[in-house]
Amino acid sequence: MSQTGSIIIKTPEEIELMRQAGRILASIIKELKRSLKSGITTKDIDVKAEALIAGHKVLPAFKGYRGFPGCTCVSVNQEVVHGIPGKRILKDGDIISIDVGIISDGYYSDTAVTVGLGSISDELKKLLTVAQTSLQKGIEQAVVDNHLSDISSAIQTYVESHDFSVVRDFVGHGIGKALHEDPEIPNFGLPHMGPVLKEGMVFAIEPMVNLGTWQTKTLEDGWTVVTKDGKPSAHFEHTVAITKKGPEILTE
Ligand code: MG
Repeated sequence: MSQTGSIIIKTPEEIELMRQAGRILASIIKELKRSLKSGITTKDIDVKAEALIAGHKVLPAFKGYRGFPGCTCVSVNQEVVHGIPGKRILKDGDIISIDVGIISDGYYSDTAVTVGLGSISDELKKLLTVAQTSLQKGIEQAVVDNHLSDISSAIQTYVESHDFSVVRDFVGHGIGKALHEDPEIPNFGLPHMGPVLKEGMVFAIEPMVNLGTWQTKTLEDGWTVVTKDGKPSAHFEHTVAITKKGPEILTE
């Protein structure tokens, strides 16, 4: 590895290890999505995740991170991110964000998805579609010689064109031998600013999109972030490598 500014450039060998990590993580989150049904608890999702992670002989990235108790963050409805898996029972009409990370051969991988359970309102369907598409819009800008904020700006512009808002208090990040490396990747901002993107950078891009205000607050458990106005929020994340041929989504 080498560094440009404080952003670590990965070698092709490192990217290959991160590709393997991403492939495993993609299969784990696919299984977790499949296991969602009304009546289970958010803890049930985490128990399943822990078993899947162990089954792949990799390590959970979140468990014990600054004391976080779960392998997953499970955030329901107005919860934005960092929901602690627990006794909450999922029901029809909920939207559930699952965020999960692993360490494979020393390299981190990080992904998140939001799923509607049973029949959800048209408004919520639109929120999920716009949030997921905003991630794609950001990823499309993760190309050599773009500036970092081209990613940020593409996400914000797309989300706000649909009259939703992007969370400011939490951001994407570089990823590699650590879960959170430089740079921070906001989901808002003007284009053409910040570091120039280079081949070998790997980013976790993760827009959090709110139906109402962008403002958030953290609950007394010290982790769970909710929207300030109590309206729903969606979160999608991929780990993405910047290559000569364009952005490569590692967690797909
Ligand atoms: Mg992340």
